[in-house]
Amino acid sequence: MAVTEPAPAPPLAAHEGILRRQSLRESAARTYARSLPIVPVRARGLTIEGADGRRYLDCLSGAGTLALGHNHPVVLEAIKKVLDSGAPLHVLDLATPVKDAFVTELFSTLPRQFADDARVQFCGPAGTDAVEAAFKLVRAATGRSGLLAFTGAYHGMTEGALAASGGAEDVRVTRLPFPQDYRCPFGIGGEAGARTAARWTENLLDDPKSGTPTPAGMILEPVQGEGGVNPAPDGWMRRMREVTETRSIPLIADEVQTGVGRTGAFWAVEHSGIVPDVMVLSKAIGGSLPLAVIVYRSELDTWQPGAHAGTFRGNQLAMAAGTATLAYVRENGLAERAGVLGGRMLANLRSLAADHPCVGDVRGRGLMIGVEIVDPEARPQGTGTEPPPDPVLAAAVQQECLSRGLIVELGGRYSTVVRLLPPLTLTDEQATAVVDRLADALAAAERSPHRRLPTGSLR
Ligand code: PMP
Repeated sequence: MAVTEPAPAPPLAAHEGILRRQSLRESAARTYARSLPIVPVRARGLTIEGADGRRYLDCLSGAGTLALGHNHPVVLEAIKKVLDSGAPLHVLDLATPVKDAFVTELFSTLPRQFADDARVQFCGPAGTDAVEAAFKLVRAATGRSGLLAFTGAYHGMTEGALAASGGAEDVRVTRLPFPQDYRCPFGIGGEAGARTAARWTENLLDDPKSGTPTPAGMILEPVQGEGGVNPAPDGWMRRMREVTETRSIPLIADEVQTGVGRTGAFWAVEHSGIVPDVMVLSKAIGGSLPLAVIVYRSELDTWQPGAHAGTFRGNQLAMAAGTATLAYVRENGLAERAGVLGGRMLANLRSLAADHPCVGDVRGRGLMIGVEIVDPEARPQGTGTEPPPDPVLAAAVQQECLSRGLIVELGGRYSTVVRLLPPLTLTDEQATAVVDRLADALAAAERSPHRRLPTGSLR
């Protein structure tokens, strides 16, 4: 009997080859690349074009980095200007005109009371580097070692930052309840829930047998991003400021994701009017290139020369791109615009919830928006009254978004919060297109039979 040869596999399209080689050669720890199998080759504003010719509306925006979207002309212009000037690209932490302009612009955007008496430290270029620098600073300044951080927090992936994050496995940080309306740990929500959370913190610090000695600092996000888009109530923020101030505990505001207009104020601490002791800044301040700094009250500046060093602290292109971004956001009132447009998108998404029982909650501040996906048919777990989160359905919603040309992130405690972080330059028409595509994706995901995880298997 003649043996027929199997037909040769059709040649892979170029982008398929790239994706295949990526999955063979890159770490198992790769993240976004798993759920977003796209090979971007061109991008402008909200839009990314893949090597396969498909176009996507990008509401991930480099995990909230791209305040002006991809390749904004003012950013490209600023980068080209440095390149054409013959200025050195690598300068360690030496003074340059580019850096001088960046610091001047950055300080002009910061709350006056804070900026008037602040120092800036350029650290390694990632948000997590700045978090480490902040911890080291407050430890040096106070001579204490402990830290206070919150449930659901995200501060980065290096050792200290990870220990302060909600996913930490070794516990060297005292964990405090972050107020949340939906799934409030006290079953109360609202102002009363936030008051209870604040009281817990105060009590822990004042009880001599609480097991928590006075710490070196407290770190918080004004809106938890990766933790599922949980805006801290302004009253609670003010309470945390009082609680820390009266006990001489430096308060560190991690504005890596909330900064540069994202939440409807240039810096999210402005909503509550608090003045922190340390601000941790990265992402948007580099105008899409890597840059991170801490800015802090001068009184904390007790560091010895070289106490916190590093080779890559002088990225001139990032500083120029950052200066252009900060100035553009300031001059064009993009923070206010984010507040108005974000409010409208939140209202539109909330009205969607009526038709989509899998939408458990819609929340956010400015253009930092989250839609929590639940299993409406399952009974609430434990003491909660809300339906349980549905990570499988949330992943299906993300994939349905992608097939409709919309890129969204998943975050939150159970990876069930669809996150929207569009650029602040989003137009009204683009905002409508984003909400429409998400609505279609929700309907399609609800129709598709998705595998339910057995109760208790959520991680
Ligand atoms: N802090 C916050 C609030 C963040 O959202 C992130 C990143 N998502 C980080 C710190 C860490 O930043 P990076 O990934 O640049 O290290």
